[in-house]
Amino acid sequence: MEDTIAPRRVTRIRHELHRRDTVVRRITRPSPNFVAITFADPSLAGFVSSSFDDHVKFIFTDTQGQPVRRDYTPLHHDAAQGELTIEFALHDSGAATQWARQAQVGDRAVIAGPRGSMVIPADYPWHLLAGDTTALPAIVRRLRELPADVSARVLLLAEDAADHRPLHSAARLDVSWVRSPEAFLAAADALQLPEGEGFAWAAGEASLMKRLRQLLVDGKQHPRTAMRVSAYWKQGAQEFHEDLVD
Ligand SMILES: Cc1cc2nc3c(=O)[nH]c(=O)nc-3n(C[C@H](O)[C@H](O)[C@H](O)COP(=O)(O)OP(=O)(O)OC[C@H]3O[C@@H](n4cnc5c(N)ncnc54)[C@H](O)[C@@H]3O)c2cc1C
Repeated sequence: MEDTIAPRRVTRIRHELHRRDTVVRRITRPSPNFVAITFADPSLAGFVSSSFDDHVKFIFTDTQGQPVRRDYTPLHHDAAQGELTIEFALHDSGAATQWARQAQVGDRAVIAGPRGSMVIPADYPWHLLAGDTTALPAIVRRLRELPADVSARVLLLAEDAADHRPLHSAARLDVSWVRSPEAFLAAADALQLPEGEGFAWAAGEASLMKRLRQLLVDGKQHPRTAMRVSAYWKQGAQEFHEDLVD
């Protein structure tokens, strides 16, 4: 019988939607502009997140007593402890940023989802992971999940150099940090993408991601089928999310 190798493909998984009432158990500051918050509830034992690209709806009460919802990446799940950690990139204004900045152990919030997952095979020989501070939690999680026999090229934008933390992975890792959108696009343009099959994943501000995607498609002729670029926020808009496609 002839051996056939199935092509790698992204698969979509739907999950049953759960809303979980959680309480803040721990708070740490990985660097000046990030707060990592660990939420706990026994119901989190059954939490399922199949991809680093997943998001949950984080639902909290703002300073006016109004319910607010924002999207966040499930960074670390500990089923045994019934815990989920989310890392918030702090920025100048915004209800979620304000909530995270002032969070105290014992505060309550609802975590809903994830509703679905886009599972990107980890065995592509190379991975490009790029984005701004909102993409950092997803990239940290992906790097933790990649196997040793692949390579990961990481390009990250954080204006404050104090946020440029060391990253770890079993994969062969090449990380660049930049401090402005212009430097991000210049570094992306200068990238020599390796030979062979690779997957490009990126997330961040809408106009920056649009330009990055254009650069990957038109400038580097990277196949659209091996790419996922998302707008995780948009300058001047609240709660914005868009997956960029042509
Ligand atoms: C799938 C997905 C996963 C995400 N995962 C994470 C995550 O793990 N960690 C994380 O920190 N963020 C993550 N984000 C981004 C986060 O949801 C947005 O940044 C969100 O807008 C923050 O809400 P807010 O209430 O603080 O600000 P909003 O009320 O939504 O916005 C207020 C103002 O702040 C601006 N703004 C919003 N976000 C930023 C920012 N990051 N930097 C500068 N200005 C901003 C807006 O343009 C607006 O003018 C994710 C988004 C998506 C779609």
